[in-house]
Amino acid sequence: MLSSAPTVPLRAAHSEIDSLLEEAGDVVFRLDLQGEVLFASQHAVALSGLDSLRGANLVALCAEADQPALKSALAELVQSGTASRVELRLRCEQGETWFELRLSVYGRNGAIPAAGILAVGRDLSAQHATEERLRHMATHDALTELPNRLLLSDRIRMTIAQARRSGQGFSVATVGIDGFKKVNDGLGHPVGDAVLRMAAARLRKTLRDSDTLARVGGDEFVAVLPGTATEAQIKLVTGRLLATLQAPFEIDTHTIYLGASVGVSVYPQHAEDEVRLVALADAAMSRAKETGKARCVVYSPRHSGPPEHDISLEAAMFQAVREGEFMLYYQPIVDARTREIEGFETLMRWKHPTLGMVPPVRFIPIAETNGLINLLGAWALKAACVQLKQFEEVAKRPLYISVNISPRQFRNDKFLDVLDDAMAFSGLPGEQLVLEITEGTLMIDPAHAETILTRMADRKARIAIDDFGTGYSSLAYLKRFPISVLKIDRAFIRDLPGSQKDGAICNAVLDLAKHLDLSVVAEGVETEEQLAHLQERGCQYIQGYLTGKPMAAHVAMAALRERTYANLVPPESRPDVRQVQA
Ligand code: C2E
Ligand code: MG
Ligand code: MG
Repeated sequence: MLSSAPTVPLRAAHSEIDSLLEEAGDVVFRLDLQGEVLFASQHAVALSGLDSLRGANLVALCAEADQPALKSALAELVQSGTASRVELRLRCEQGETWFELRLSVYGRNGAIPAAGILAVGRDLSAQHATEERLRHMATHDALTELPNRLLLSDRIRMTIAQARRSGQGFSVATVGIDGFKKVNDGLGHPVGDAVLRMAAARLRKTLRDSDTLARVGGDEFVAVLPGTATEAQIKLVTGRLLATLQAPFEIDTHTIYLGASVGVSVYPQHAEDEVRLVALADAAMSRAKETGKARCVVYSPRHSGPPEHDISLEAAMFQAVREGEFMLYYQPIVDARTREIEGFETLMRWKHPTLGMVPPVRFIPIAETNGLINLLGAWALKAACVQLKQFEEVAKRPLYISVNISPRQFRNDKFLDVLDDAMAFSGLPGEQLVLEITEGTLMIDPAHAETILTRMADRKARIAIDDFGTGYSSLAYLKRFPISVLKIDRAFIRDLPGSQKDGAICNAVLDLAKHLDLSVVAEGVETEEQLAHLQERGCQYIQGYLTGKPMAAHVAMAALRERTYANLVPPESRPDVRQVQA
């Protein structure tokens, strides 16, 4: 007997399903087991820009790169019957759009309608755009949209790998805009920013698509130039870079004349790794600036280039900045008579995950060569000012903070901005800030030093000469520059009171300071005998292991309050090195 159960014609069943699918909206496909489209929702058809998708294969409708993944997802689905999801780009009228397709089978085991596949799509384009934006932000400079230092390192590493395969060298060029600071100071930051954007666009235009141009600092750019390795090629490219920045910048009503200094290093002649290539190009650019600006210098070992140093340590430093491994210690500077804490010197520390505490003598010179010192120094200054405010709250009296400023930081066009930012952020008045520089820093460019020191004095910040007596032999600069403090180097204190020579030097410094109305801090005081000797001779302040080693902020707080660990500085109120732009 024939079954009397009512049968629904196949075509009618499908059309019922399809209209349900249509109502579900969005992008829906019904496919046969080979992936051929039996039905596509109107939305899917509209998206494709075609008249109909019937008969097309879904695999062909997605981007070529995603086809293998979809093919195997479909095969797997047909075999196992288990629903799955696949992320892919569907071809659309306007290009490609990211979708998540949920794949499932229907009507298996001979049921009606016949077995097929359902593919329901969710538009992921907004999500992908956000992810892409975040990726872009992490690797690009917000002002110019150029790659930043992180992306630059990746690009150089890629270029090294290509150069190894092809046997063709390449060069790295650091471009520093000459006189940019004048624009920022004289015409304001909005004009400065416009100049930087314009300079970035011009530099980019002189380069080929395969070249990388990154912005790595205020007015510093780095270009990676694959295939540019001979003298003639370098001359051609850098000539264009120099010329494009020499053309006047018309901004609002201003016509601004700048220029650039360029330093170049070449792979593999000068270096075979990314960090050193940039460091050497940087050294060559400094050389170009020192020798008259508006020119290009190709690195040569004859130049007083950066000292040989541990490259792996240097690479780790970039990582350390990202990971926030740098921290600050504080060493008390005390009144030699009362031993009361008057202030603190800020000393940087690097807490390396495997090497432990790396001393500043190992990493500061490296940071000085690769420019990281600008970032680290800006952070140290800001964090130290904030910290002093908190020290004062505990001590309930005014103190001062002394911060070391490296030569490169001092020469940086942005240095005064960094100083102002630290003071404004912390609310610390200039009177409570001492900036330690060495005699060498003053002597690199005395005219520039005079300007900067005067500007610092305008802000009431005091200048200390660190390691006094170990550097320059002329004392004339003490008259010329507005200096307030001399710090006698540890080398002259160590053998006191036994050494007659050191005793004589200390006496001479104390005498000189008295006549020039300068304060003196004796560094590296380790014994009571040294302290007694210095105090008898009128030394006002001392700093050394005797009265306090460099210590973490919370230990210094405890020392001030004479209660231990009671007042940890909340970490969120300290500036983070990763968030300071220099
Ligand atoms: P500095 O500015 O002359 O700092 C004094 C150094 O002497 C510190 O070494 C300190 O720990 C050490 N010291 C202090 N008292 C004694 C003592 O009684 N005996 C002995 N043996 N040593 C003592 P540290 O912290 O290793 O720093 C070394 C140098 O690194 C500093 O010399 C400074 O030039 C540089 N430095 C440290 N932090 C920074 C920073 O934030 N920025 C810059 N640019 N340089 C820094
Ligand atoms: Mg110092
Ligand atoms: Mg010193």
